[in-house]
Amino acid sequence: MSWVTGADGSTYGVANLPYGVFRHDGREPRVGVRIGDLVFDLAGAEAAGLVLAAGTLGRPALNDFMALGRPQWTAVRQRVTELLTDPAHRPAVEPLLLPLDEVRMALPFEVADYVDFYSSEHHAANVGQIFRPGQPPLLPNWKHLPIGYHGRAGTVVVSGTPVVRPTGQRATPQGPVAGPSVRLDIEAEVGFVIGVPSPLGARVSVDDFTDHVFGVVLVNDWSARDIQAWEYQPLGPFLGKSFATSISAWVTPLDALGDAFVPAPEQDPPVTDYLRDVPHLGLDLSLAVRWNGERVTEPPFATMYWTPAQQLAHLTVNGASLRTGDLYASGTVSGPERSQVGSFLELTWGGTEPVKFGDGGTRTFLEDGDTVTVTATAPGPDGTTIALGEVTGTILPAR
Ligand code: CA
Repeated sequence: MSWVTGADGSTYGVANLPYGVFRHDGREPRVGVRIGDLVFDLAGAEAAGLVLAAGTLGRPALNDFMALGRPQWTAVRQRVTELLTDPAHRPAVEPLLLPLDEVRMALPFEVADYVDFYSSEHHAANVGQIFRPGQPPLLPNWKHLPIGYHGRAGTVVVSGTPVVRPTGQRATPQGPVAGPSVRLDIEAEVGFVIGVPSPLGARVSVDDFTDHVFGVVLVNDWSARDIQAWEYQPLGPFLGKSFATSISAWVTPLDALGDAFVPAPEQDPPVTDYLRDVPHLGLDLSLAVRWNGERVTEPPFATMYWTPAQQLAHLTVNGASLRTGDLYASGTVSGPERSQVGSFLELTWGGTEPVKFGDGGTRTFLEDGDTVTVTATAPGPDGTTIALGEVTGTILPAR
């Protein structure tokens, strides 16, 4: 139980405590933790000697704190919990609590490398049917390794950042043309953030997942389907993806998700040794996608075929090193039902079945001015629910 007004019974109670970076009163960005509808100024708490984190909480990004490693992450979380639950600390802590609507959230960490996977069997099969009709929906490698590609770290933006409609080439029956994308889409995903790096040449095993991964963000991997369809063979996604990737302002620490790990779907055929994770666990996150405020789909993350530990092991099996601030995203989260897909490409089946809204409007892909918001909840301790930070963005006209 927390002494903070509004914390108990909220999805941001003391079982959650996600980290972010905020600006307040024109001062430099610094680290805070969300409790209820307030931000606990951890930089101020560290300066006052209430929390010890090697001076990392006054920095404008979470990277230095995330590099400290799991024992320190756990110690700081325990101390913050103590400060927010023991009424003896209230006089010292209360002046460091700021209303959310008085702060501006910044990108929570400096993104090092960005990898995007493709780990939902339902999504991969849907896209296979839409892009390669008449052929087997999954390519022969799909159940043997988590498919992924390296994305563009420099265009990862914090939730709330407007997204300018990208321009590029697309194929038409008359040949390729250049211009603003006319099939702009979303991909609702879950991202994993690396805290502890690994040296070049080393491999990170499935068992070392919790030593390296600090926490989880929600991701919207904006995708221009027309640009993507024309450019993606033979080397994969390029400009159809790299113009913007939005992440939530809050990073939910893995320590908050202890009750959310659940058995992942059984893998058949069995995977090769370096991908065998025992226990084979995914996360029971319930996502929701709102399109101009209307809830259009509810992707279930627990249905993902490849687990985050397998993705990390695969990402490093060739000896590629990890850096603090690396972000790897799950790939679009799609469940088996049409109401559970994580992209509008699937929701409208390649644009052939428009979505009908409550006000009578329809959509196939995104129009200028449209806003998309992805939220998620997870089981917390004792039957409670915790929320992940939302990721939202509005489309601006092409320039
Ligand atoms: Ca993606």
